[in-house]
Amino acid sequence: MRLGGTGGVRRRNASAWLVPNDGSRVNEELRASMRRFDDDDEVDLAIVGCGAGGATLLQRLARAGWKVVAFDAGPFWDPDRDWVSDEAGSHHLYWTEPRVLAGSDPVPLGSNNSGRGVGGSMVHFAGYTPRFHPSDFSTHTDDGVGADWPISYADLKLYYEQIEQELPVAGEHWPWGDPHGYPHSPHPIGGNGMVFQRGCLELGIEVKVGPVAITNGRFGNRSHCIYRGFCLQGCKVGAKASPLITHVPDALDHGAEIRADSMVTAVVVDDDRGLATGVRYLQGGVERYQRARMVAVAGYSIETPRLLLNSATQRWPDGLGNDFDQVGRYVMVQGAPQSAGRFAEEIRSYKAPPPEVSTEAFYETDPTQDYKRGFSLQGVSPLPITYAEHVTAQGHWGSSLREYMRDYVHWAVIGALCEFLPLPDNRVTLAEETDRHGLPVAKFSYSQCDNDRALVVAADEKLEAILRAAGASEVMTINRYAHLVGGCRMSSDASSGVVDADHRSWAIRNLVIGGGSVLPTQGSANPALTIMALAARAADRLVAGSRSGLRAPAVR
Ligand SMILES: Cc1cc2nc3c(=O)[nH]c(=O)nc-3n(C[C@H](O)[C@H](O)[C@H](O)COP(=O)(O)OP(=O)(O)OC[C@H]3O[C@@H](n4cnc5c(N)ncnc54)[C@H](O)[C@@H]3O)c2cc1C
Ligand code: SF4
Repeated sequence: MRLGGTGGVRRRNASAWLVPNDGSRVNEELRASMRRFDDDDEVDLAIVGCGAGGATLLQRLARAGWKVVAFDAGPFWDPDRDWVSDEAGSHHLYWTEPRVLAGSDPVPLGSNNSGRGVGGSMVHFAGYTPRFHPSDFSTHTDDGVGADWPISYADLKLYYEQIEQELPVAGEHWPWGDPHGYPHSPHPIGGNGMVFQRGCLELGIEVKVGPVAITNGRFGNRSHCIYRGFCLQGCKVGAKASPLITHVPDALDHGAEIRADSMVTAVVVDDDRGLATGVRYLQGGVERYQRARMVAVAGYSIETPRLLLNSATQRWPDGLGNDFDQVGRYVMVQGAPQSAGRFAEEIRSYKAPPPEVSTEAFYETDPTQDYKRGFSLQGVSPLPITYAEHVTAQGHWGSSLREYMRDYVHWAVIGALCEFLPLPDNRVTLAEETDRHGLPVAKFSYSQCDNDRALVVAADEKLEAILRAAGASEVMTINRYAHLVGGCRMSSDASSGVVDADHRSWAIRNLVIGGGSVLPTQGSANPALTIMALAARAADRLVAGSRSGLRAPAVR
């Protein structure tokens, strides 16, 4: 292990050692003794959203001695009390508030792409944690599509390594992008992963086990994986990473506060000074106001722009940070087709974590193809309800659906993540409709471009070829979406984005944007690791900035 081995991780983030080792999963004492700020206290930083980006920022800045409080609209989860190893019983993990969908290829929102509560979407994320490739940061220069980031892969590399240790990530040595190893060795794989490996081997496609944010063996007091397949239902075991167990315990131990069940309704700004002064939020039906020297918004790609637009003032009538009409634009999803293949032998894909095996052999632009950029391929292993959705999407219903469901144990499912391009009209605006708090809901408009469609066709072909090569007698492919990023992208100048390379709003310098909204492009990698690495880097930049006199606390 680099960066100081296990001792080095613990000195940076002791969360895994703050989880109880008596079989329970919540450190009740830590939560009960959590520091609590008054609304009248001027905290150093108020963070909206305690997910991948927000919780990482919280932990890092609490460690740096900042007075920090994170607000989350959802609950402070207790895995034993609140989560069940059951697909149908896990819908309360998702953000299901109303939203309006538009565009020629509307993206359904809900279970597939948003979370709520402390830990955010990673509570029910699958667990794949690949890095972005160096090429992802300069697609406009290199490929003539997408956008260039104001930072490079080299700026994030140290933070990738740190977060991979803190989650921790298990996998084989990774040959793609910037080749690297992982702190934990690869997990054993189940029937679904073996099918994927076999098909790739037949076709000469290089494939690797991992990278997954699941402890392989004990990590601190966290238990190892028991391979029971409920990663997308919250992992009651605590083997799969989410900020709830990887960053929140250490943040609390260093004096951070988390205010759960608190929906932030506006970032409050002083128009005269052009600075944020705090946040307005609803808790138990009561409107309150928290004073803060800086505000960070990390509410994911739909809620972050919505909040900035809903926070309009006389000076900023079109929303905060929106002087160049950039807030809410360039929201991206990945095209995520999935193919199911039937095998004579029993696959029993539920007997393993859904994330197991993947390949990035088709990630980069291939000059022999008529599309730019590429896709990654990963094992999927849906549980029965999700598999039933796959079957019904093919038009099967009634007795035919029942027949397919009886046959569930014979099916293997693999999927692709296609790099859809950032387009200005794929955007979040405010709808006429309001939510139960009377706030305008987000309207999310999405349409694909020709390059997106070409990538899906290529990925579909590859998925089906792999299953056939592995011996599938029947193949069913469905097209769908996964993940959400963008909406408040970082840029090298004020007119083409919302925040600078340090995540600070071009317009309001003590307003910070964290979470997946800041990504200018998305590669075909799952985004959570990059979101956490960006947040860890942003925290370092904020601490450095405070030393040079930004409106932020002096380092104590
Ligand atoms: C089913 C599923 C599977 C996934 N699988 C993977 C995977 O395998 N690998 C991967 O890398 N990624 C995966 N993802 C995506 C990944 O989880 C997200 O990209 C990541 O968590 C986003 O981080 P974030 O900080 O932007 O937002 P989140 O982690 O979603 O955190 C946002 C938080 O903000 C809160 N919030 C929003 N608005 C407000 C408000 N106004 N006031 C108070 N709180 C607010 C929400 O309650 C939420 O907790 C998956 C996602 C889903 C849904
Ligand atoms: S398979 Fe492992 S990581 Fe997934 S829910 Fe079960 S114990 Fe957790």
